[in-house]
Amino acid sequence: MPSCGIKECKVEHWSHYCNVCDKGNSDHLPKDCPQGISIYHGTKVSNISSIIDNGLRPSTHGRIGSGIYFAGGDVVLDITKHRGDGNGLVVFKCRVNPNYCRTGVHPTWTGVTKAPFNEWCLTDSTKYALIGVLLVDGIVDGDINIPHGTIMVTGHCKFRGNITVGTLQVGGTEF
Ligand SMILES: [Zn+2]
Ligand SMILES: [Zn+2]
Repeated sequence: MPSCGIKECKVEHWSHYCNVCDKGNSDHLPKDCPQGISIYHGTKVSNISSIIDNGLRPSTHGRIGSGIYFAGGDVVLDITKHRGDGNGLVVFKCRVNPNYCRTGVHPTWTGVTKAPFNEWCLTDSTKYALIGVLLVDGIVDGDINIPHGTIMVTGHCKFRGNITVGTLQVGGTEF
């Protein structure tokens, strides 16, 4: 049976491509890429399945240009709560190659963040991998398929589809 040598990987192949560092024959899963940094992106819970299937969508206008915006976990949680419609939210923890990011310091967002915060704008939307998702309230209609990832559930969540994850955690917001 061909094996790429990565313990967690069950795919029968000889080499494992890492899209984060672009190595054709890597010794790690993309979510563990040593060239990446772990940062967060949040949105409404209703977007979760389409993002897991199709990836995060770059925004066309943002403070530091077009791309996928990331920040630290606490900041993203505060911003996503503020932007939400009260029907639940999801925060994606991702491994991102910082070489493909513009970075900036966002000034304090009055009433939302306690201080200025770092933000990353990923300009090549293929250079990240999903580590896990944090779900806070809301209804998930579609399937969730992240076999190597973590899903953390907090508050009142309802699942109507099939869930395939590496790790399921209930409660807490630190991941
Ligand atoms: Zn593999
Ligand atoms: Zn890598």
